[in-house]
Amino acid sequence: MNTTINARPYDPTPARRVAFLGLGVMGYPMAGHLALAGHEVTVYNRTATKSEAFCAQLAGAGKVKHAETPAAAAAGAEIVLACVGNDDDLRQVVLGEAGAFAGMAPGAIFVDHTTASANVARELDAVARSRGLHFIDAPVSGGQAGAQNGQLTGMCGGDQAAFDRVRPVALAFSRAFTLMGPSGAGQLTKMVNQICIAGLVQGLSEAIAFGQRAGLDMQQVIEVIGKGAAQSWQLDNRGPTMAQDRFDFGFAVDWMRKDLGLVLDEAKRNGARLPVTALVDQFYADVQQMGGGRWDTSSLVRRLK
Ligand code: NAP
Repeated sequence: MNTTINARPYDPTPARRVAFLGLGVMGYPMAGHLALAGHEVTVYNRTATKSEAFCAQLAGAGKVKHAETPAAAAAGAEIVLACVGNDDDLRQVVLGEAGAFAGMAPGAIFVDHTTASANVARELDAVARSRGLHFIDAPVSGGQAGAQNGQLTGMCGGDQAAFDRVRPVALAFSRAFTLMGPSGAGQLTKMVNQICIAGLVQGLSEAIAFGQRAGLDMQQVIEVIGKGAAQSWQLDNRGPTMAQDRFDFGFAVDWMRKDLGLVLDEAKRNGARLPVTALVDQFYADVQQMGGGRWDTSSLVRRLK
């Protein structure tokens, strides 16, 4: 795993005692930025070698240590942050005897950066309240590079007062961190983000495949149309690499399918019609069948070549 953490200027807040659960592609650098910002960080990772490597890497930066269970990591922490895979993973690190809630003192706040369902956010928010704890759903956008550079965008759901306590801490790894509404609103906002990306990347894929069949120099085309109304982050950043057939740029197709599954489930509940998103989800299933589950999401274009 790439363990780069690029330090960045940070307006220091009073050092807090925090815990971070899940040192994956995203969690490792996020926790690293918290340590670099001067917070006292206890980490937990299911595979202990990663927490040991984290403590060895950050030992010089601040007070870091690792714990054997989520409950042990959370004990004494004012804020417990997590970034694991999906709803079930989240329940596993939060609930039960060894789960984070068991270790947290009343008044402490759990912040979930996993991209999960709005339902699990509401479910865990209710459990948190029954124990005198707070729960904020706070999925992030910005990918691995955003996490490494401390430039993520966090979209949050929960109580204003708890959010206000978390925000200065989360700004150690975010350039924006915004409360969108009550519990679940952060996850719903992330779903809107993924709907935008799915349709856009399919459009971009069709454009690139078309241009290549037409015999155009696609690097030049992308440069030129990127100065007009077709411009987008995806066109600027992924367009040139899609034209070169390179798909090792972070956010994986397997994760996108999980996210679109959450979106389509939610749409069944709220009645939204998402014909293009549902189709693109099936196109991503094709990419998985081609062996591309770990390729990045711009690999949609591969189906068309
Ligand atoms: P990842 O590299 O696979 O890391 C997942 C982390 O969760 C690992 O630390 C893993 O522990 C831990 N974990 C998974 N299941 C667990 C369980 N049942 N109990 C305890 N720990 C568990 O994933 P990632 O790329 O960091 O993504 C994490 C979340 O952020 C996902 O929800 C993803 O959709 C979202 N996200 C990712 C990106 C991106 O570009 N990667 C961007 C935005 C949002 P082990 O080390 O033991 O496996």
